[in-house]
Amino acid sequence: MQYPEPIARLIDSYMKLPGIGAKTAARLAFFSMDMEEEAVMNFANALISCKRDLRMCSVCGNITQEDPCEICRDTTRDHTKVLVVEDSRDVMSMERMREFRGMYHVLHGVLSPMEGTGPEDINIATLIKRLQEAEIEEVIIATNATAEGEATAMYLSRLIKPSGIKVTRLAHGLAVGSDIEYADEMTLFRAIEGRREL
Ligand SMILES: [Zn+2]
Repeated sequence: MQYPEPIARLIDSYMKLPGIGAKTAARLAFFSMDMEEEAVMNFANALISCKRDLRMCSVCGNITQEDPCEICRDTTRDHTKVLVVEDSRDVMSMERMREFRGMYHVLHGVLSPMEGTGPEDINIATLIKRLQEAEIEEVIIATNATAEGEATAMYLSRLIKPSGIKVTRLAHGLAVGSDIEYADEMTLFRAIEGRREL
């Protein structure tokens, strides 16, 4: 016997999420069926709204409702420093720390020859354009301490340094292989304070 079509579709949808296998997907689908209609509507609308109402900031690549984003519009921040991160969740982690008052640039990925991700596949072109057009003195590379994150940092450093802009890399504190997103605030603070020049 097969599941009725609507529930089969829901199970299929859940299975498209990272880390969700067939069993968990079925459990979530049956749980969803038992939810109040209003809660289901809210859930569905939240998904749709994330798709419809959010865009990438044309300056920094951060996820935003308004373009340019709130951070790029903020004139009280230090526009001469740009901290480069892998994704928007890293911006959130940095902002929670409240110590960094510069700008961000979100790459939306890292270079990965293994997965066929090259410089043109991530948000590098807009960073270079930004460096040419704005008065930027320092680029702080805060990609994760993974092999791909390190390779991306080296690539960016080689690309940017000839322009005379200072390029630094987040320092110790971040364990090898660790993600910025999961680092605690003290660790992030020390990593930023102890950044070294590339
Ligand atoms: Zn922005």
